[in-house]
Amino acid sequence: MIKEQKALFIIFGGTGDLAQRKLYPSIFELYKKGYLKRNFAIIGTARRPWTNDYYREIVKDSIDGMYDSEQTAIAFSNHFYYQSHNVTDTSHYVTLRQLAEKLDGKYEIGGNRLFYLAMSPRFFGTICEHLKSQELKTTTGYNRVIVEKPFGRDFASATILNNEISQSFPEDDVFRIDHYLGKEMVQNIAAIRFGNSIFNAMWNNRYISNIQVTLSEALGVEERAGYYETAGALRDMIQNHMLQIVALLTMSAPVSFTDADIRNAKINALKCLKVYTKDEVKENFVRGQYDSGRNLPAYRQEDQTAPDSMTETFVAGKLLINTMDMAGVPIYVRTGKRLATKATRIDVVFKQVPNNVFADNDLRHDVLTITVDPEPSLRLQLNSKTIGQGYDFDTHRLNLDYKLSEEQKKSVPEAYEKLILDALKGKASNFTHWKELQYSWKFVDAIRQAWDDNVDQVVFPNYPCGEMGPDTSEKLLAKDGNHWEFTI
Ligand code: NAD
Repeated sequence: MIKEQKALFIIFGGTGDLAQRKLYPSIFELYKKGYLKRNFAIIGTARRPWTNDYYREIVKDSIDGMYDSEQTAIAFSNHFYYQSHNVTDTSHYVTLRQLAEKLDGKYEIGGNRLFYLAMSPRFFGTICEHLKSQELKTTTGYNRVIVEKPFGRDFASATILNNEISQSFPEDDVFRIDHYLGKEMVQNIAAIRFGNSIFNAMWNNRYISNIQVTLSEALGVEERAGYYETAGALRDMIQNHMLQIVALLTMSAPVSFTDADIRNAKINALKCLKVYTKDEVKENFVRGQYDSGRNLPAYRQEDQTAPDSMTETFVAGKLLINTMDMAGVPIYVRTGKRLATKATRIDVVFKQVPNNVFADNDLRHDVLTITVDPEPSLRLQLNSKTIGQGYDFDTHRLNLDYKLSEEQKKSVPEAYEKLILDALKGKASNFTHWKELQYSWKFVDAIRQAWDDNVDQVVFPNYPCGEMGPDTSEKLLAKDGNHWEFTI
């Protein structure tokens, strides 16, 4: 059921790329669907001296092609107000508060505020402090803050950032966004696991041989090289998106499907993630950096990268979650740039039956594949009898496929739309809890430290553009007698 939400959005970084490409189109979708109708307003802030009219034109441009009539676009953009604002200038928060109070009254919002920090995390602390000290938080409605990634660059810096935010906002009001958690098939993991006896019964070390997660990108670093040089694939993808997916794949059944219980289940899974020693990092993690290939430049030739850069653009690793159900199941993960294709895919490889009664036939592992991107789909690979007379009793591979219909595809919301609606409703399970981050960073820091000490003595670059990473990624699985199910 669609229930209208009342809220005043205050977006810090309102002129930025994220706001224009993701936030305004997502908010417009919520408007078209009736989640936002009359009782809402958006204040966009940034340093530039824009007028309301100019800002509304930018908003209209950002939803170009999404509306049926000019009237709808104008009615929507009229809810937007621009406030020139330097986040470090206290006096600007006074003006912002006055505008917020005025709009709260005009649109009868009742004091509900959603602060969206769509700018560099180095400003999060000062913004949150001012929101509290300059009384932008109301006493009549909710006050929630959505923060963008990256949340720190290691455990120590994430802790400092979290301490700064928590001076002004309690944990329940902090919505740390990870847009992978807004994706349809990522959310489907819980339904598949906990809604079906077959998978519920088999989702453990007695039946699962290994789990594989691939988050591959075909693009290079593009215009993000400046940031990427200081981050690398480990911080940019493994610490957040990958570990969140791993938590959903390995958590024990939540007591109920409430925010608190789901988050507890995920926190416990990440708590049981084995943190590696340096030698274990060498054994269980490999890194790569793309070389030129297919007429594309090497990472070291990109703008804003060092000619001898040691930043990894590829990571593959084996994770172990030491819970009663998952201990001993290798969880292989890999992510990288300039790989053969863009895809987000999960393969759950089940063990073979203990005794093959079809003596002349090789039985294969059953595999459940959950494709998140680009086309949400499910596939279950089974062994089945080859159809027809005249054959001996042969078995062959049978694929049970589920793909979304064209109609269903149209109804899939963009991840940001879904997550913004969750935040409006106060639903926090698809946002990262601070405790999850703590365990994630501790795990990642151990790998980073080992690599900074060059335990693996890697030589970069080590894979050409357009392949699925360096050879060492294949070898990592081969050591255990496994292989990547997802090949191009
Ligand atoms: P951007 O550089 O395009 O925008 C930054 C915004 O902050 C601009 O509106 C700028 O005017 C404003 N700003 C900078 N300094 C300011 C100051 N002192 N006072 C007031 N405003 C100031 O950045 P972006 O790509 O929109 O990213 C914003 C955040 O979202 C970053 O944390 C980024 O890591 C994160 N993020 C972005 C994307 C994306 O697709 N763009 C994806 C994931 C996460």
